[in-house]
Order: sequence, then C-alpha cells, then structure tokens
Amino acid sequence: MLHEGGCVCGAVRYRTEGLPLRVTACHCTACQKRTGSAFGVGAYYKAEQVQKLRGELATYEHRSDESHRWLRFEFCPKCGTQVFWTLEALPGVRAVGLGTFDDPKWLKVTRFGWYRSAHPWVKAPDGVEVFETSSLPPPTRP
Ligand SMILES: [Zn+2]
Ligand SMILES: [Zn+2]
Repeated sequence: MLHEGGCVCGAVRYRTEGLPLRVTACHCTACQKRTGSAFGVGAYYKAEQVQKLRGELATYEHRSDESHRWLRFEFCPKCGTQVFWTLEALPGVRAVGLGTFDDPKWLKVTRFGWYRSAHPWVKAPDGVEVFETSSLPPPTRP
C-alpha cells in the first residue's frame, strides 16, 4: 500500500509504504504554534516506511519545556510546509504531517494528545484514545 505526498510548493515529495503505527492529533501549545493552527496531526511510521523522493528539507530542533526531550521539525525551506518530524522519545519513528498527503483523508486519527490544552470547541471523536498530557512513553531515567 503506497501513498504519496509533498509540500505546498511541490519541491518536496515523499512516499509511504503500509499503515502507520498511529495517527495522533496533538493539542499541545507547541503544536498550536508550529502549525499556526488549533492542533497538529501526524501519522507515525517506522522510519523505513517513509521515503523522500525529492527536495531538500531544513530542520529545526525544539526542546519540550515539559519533558526536555527534542523534537526535530523537517520543513521545506521554500514554502515552509512542515512535512516530517522525528522525536527523541520515539527512536526509529518518523512522523508525516497528515495534511501533506495527496489524499489526506485516507487515514483517521487514533489518538488525541495534550487534550488538557485543546481549544474548548474541540471534542474527541468516538473511539479515539485520549491523553490529557503526552501520549508518548515517559522518559527513562538512567
Ligand atoms: Zn515546498
Ligand atoms: Zn504537540
């Protein structure tokens, strides 16, 4: 099962293979900022399921003020679309911005993260797993 997508200007194109591990809508304030929207939605894949076909990606590393772990946003330097991101908390996993798929409706959201900071008009759909804070595994203490 192959799906393709890319950024707004078309410079970056990618292909995914198979189903993602999960599709998470994140309502944390950092995702509200980075998207300029009310929440971010990512399809999380094993890194080897995602193949970049063309284009360059710039990266920005953000550190969570809560977990202090990094998130690396990968975006098209031309049009600014955030195409992928990776997380310290999920090694070997790459998230794909749901809205960048050519057919963004082929997947359904399975999780709501950081629901406590969701906008008051946002309601979790039936069957979605809801997390008041992070849906990620807790940091491991050395
Ligand atoms: Zn672009
Ligand atoms: Zn978030």
